[in-house]
Amino acid sequence: MKKVLVILIVLVVSACTSLSKKETLGCLQDKQVSSVLRVLEKLADTDVNSSNSLKANSKLIETTCNKRVYEKNSYRLLVYQNPVAADGVVQGSISNIENVGSKECLFAAVSQAGVLSPSFKEIIDLHKQKWSWLWDDYDIGPAKWLNCKDRKTSDWFESIATFIHELNHEIREGSCLRFAKDSSNLCFDLDSALPLRSIAKLESFPTKNSNQLAGLIFFQKTYLTDLDQPPLYLFDELNSYILTTRAYSNILKKNGQSAIFKEESRPVIVLPLFLLYSVLYVERLSKSHPDLYKKNFVLKPENITALKMLLAEGENTYRSWLFILKENSKPQKEVEKNLWEDYLRERSKFKL
Ligand SMILES: [Zn+2]
Repeated sequence: MKKVLVILIVLVVSACTSLSKKETLGCLQDKQVSSVLRVLEKLADTDVNSSNSLKANSKLIETTCNKRVYEKNSYRLLVYQNPVAADGVVQGSISNIENVGSKECLFAAVSQAGVLSPSFKEIIDLHKQKWSWLWDDYDIGPAKWLNCKDRKTSDWFESIATFIHELNHEIREGSCLRFAKDSSNLCFDLDSALPLRSIAKLESFPTKNSNQLAGLIFFQKTYLTDLDQPPLYLFDELNSYILTTRAYSNILKKNGQSAIFKEESRPVIVLPLFLLYSVLYVERLSKSHPDLYKKNFVLKPENITALKMLLAEGENTYRSWLFILKENSKPQKEVEKNLWEDYLRERSKFKL
């Protein structure tokens, strides 16, 4: 659980780290770097077991006009800007120090993902078009998501699922999510006055397993507190977790149990949690801000349509995962089952 969550933190940050506007064009300035670095350092100081405090100082490893590389604890922290688009955005990402990418490993991942699903190939192609300047940089480019050490282990396959999840975040265009199911765009038109996604927080998690409980508390803290964001990013996360789950299903189908299970243990599938968060967000909004709810989710049918499509695809994807688990005589984890049932109950209660 711990290892999985460490990887998942990586997911959140690169896709969604708070951005700071460049004040002038040109090389990175210390002030811009420090505001992004602070967010990354906070994440690098957080262990899954929150009682452990890791407070090593960040060490500057490399500096160029467009990129600064730091190391802190077991993480590599990167602050960078797009050298070719003058959009004035400074971005950050965090990954495990051990991950060292290479051209050959990246090539293997692209080929592996393409075998798993033609829609993954489309995501990769779109990402390459949009972010071509990033692809050859193994620090900040897509290679950073890969666990290149041993490509026969479940760590490698897990990193392929992460790779697709993250690339999918990065091909979002403004408020339009890329919908892999039919290669379309799911566009939201959401009011900037809407409350942040943390209104969907769970008070407690339906598990007595202490490791899973600690993991989920940490997970919720990461997504809904430390990186609290507008609801578009919650739906964006749901969209990417649909792909993560699809990737796991296809890996299990095509590469067998050893590609997913390590000594009978496998990552928790958090898709039911993000389905639940998404429904709770709208449900709680309707109670706490009926005016905003009406404006965004009644008078703008495109938002309802987009959300319903995401939920339906999430449900189908999770049901496919359950089917393939059953085919492999493997159980659903108790916490997944409980979150899935909680979601189905909330979904049937709240009429979208
Ligand atoms: Zn994500």
